[in-house]
Amino acid sequence: MSETMKTIGLIGGMSWESSAHYYRILNEETGRRRGGLHSAPVILHSVDFAPIAQMQAAGEWQAAGHQLNAVARNLAAAGAQVLGLATNTMHVVDDIMLEGVDLPFVHIADPTAEALLADGFDTVGLLGTRFTMEMDFYKQRLTSHGLTTLVPEVDHTNLNGIIYEELCKGIVRDESRRVFQAAIDRMAARGAQAVILGCTEIGMLIDDSSSALPTYDTTDLHARALVSAALAS
Ligand code: GLU
Repeated sequence: MSETMKTIGLIGGMSWESSAHYYRILNEETGRRRGGLHSAPVILHSVDFAPIAQMQAAGEWQAAGHQLNAVARNLAAAGAQVLGLATNTMHVVDDIMLEGVDLPFVHIADPTAEALLADGFDTVGLLGTRFTMEMDFYKQRLTSHGLTTLVPEVDHTNLNGIIYEELCKGIVRDESRRVFQAAIDRMAARGAQAVILGCTEIGMLIDDSSSALPTYDTTDLHARALVSAALAS
């Protein structure tokens, strides 16, 4: 096959659980699209999540952005040709992260919004970290695609705690699944037609079979979009 594939530079997400899911999907999708023994050319820069999580909790976004900028520059210097950031939350600093980085960047919310619109949905529920649900950066990106976004009216601390204390450590509990299911049920009652799993670890807990609404898993959609970008001429 003569088709060539660009090298994907992936900044891990920020837990290694997320990065591992991305790595698998990038390779599975490449194999599915290209056949045979094809796998994805990937340079993965996985980070130590603990200091980043501390910066998030302290609101030190600029410092975190500069740290990610150094990672992005390293990936470019190492030969990455397409760039992705395997977390929704840290897209809050994508402008700082991309300073001086001349690579095509696939924003995680874009393929997600495109998939929702292609399926005819315009009002969606958003689940994610408290930063993703409460700050404007993510909802604004969805709005720019023409989507109306709902977030849970309560339980942000609860949902956030499950992400950081359980999912980012690979812990999956039925009781926590019920917390997310209840949040989805309430957003459905308020008019959401579908739900964005807007944190790259939520897919470990919730999928279409356990959700009252159709789910749009950002990990899956983003990783596939990165493969598409790497295959585009
Ligand atoms: N991976 C998560 C997200 O998609 C949260 C952990 C992080 O801050 O990266 O937002």
